[in-house]
Amino acid sequence: MANPRLTIKAHLLAAATRFIALLLMPIACCRAPGRARFVACQWALGLRFPAEDLSGLAPATLAAFTHARAEAFWRDGQLIGLTSGHRDAAEQYRIFTEEVRRTGSVLRARRRVLPPDESSHVRGLALDVRPAEGARWLEQFGARYGLYRVYDNEWWHFEYRTAQPPRLPHPGAAQGYWYWNSPGEYPQ
Ligand SMILES: [Zn+2]
Repeated sequence: MANPRLTIKAHLLAAATRFIALLLMPIACCRAPGRARFVACQWALGLRFPAEDLSGLAPATLAAFTHARAEAFWRDGQLIGLTSGHRDAAEQYRIFTEEVRRTGSVLRARRRVLPPDESSHVRGLALDVRPAEGARWLEQFGARYGLYRVYDNEWWHFEYRTAQPPRLPHPGAAQGYWYWNSPGEYPQ
């Protein structure tokens, strides 16, 4: 069950962020006539999630994410922040080997993390988002932007795709699924 205090906090944060976006609208109108609302939303969301790093995302992924969250924010008052987007291969390798060490097995590690050559984060196509309410919004409406949840065990992980991908139980299932169902086509 949702924590009511958290929900109140989320509403207050959303209201404050919306107020900031409205304050920034006149400046956005000068800087980017025609897309002022979008730009003001990005500025306000950047202030709300100052630690997030959108760099390194593939251009289509970045466009999809920024447009989706502007709509979530403006239309439904839902904030969506990026916890982790693009990772370089060295960082992904570090996370993967740490998970192998923690779980004691490559197979078990692959249920949570993929090695660099298979990771959509390394290719700039994956987005780990927060909070859970924001992820629920993206699960419901993300397809309009080509953003899809792909794993049962990761409510936060979304990927940019040109067509709806199959929902897989976990990241490690991808290799088997694609090898068995689409030989020669291996997108992870
Ligand atoms: Zn992820």
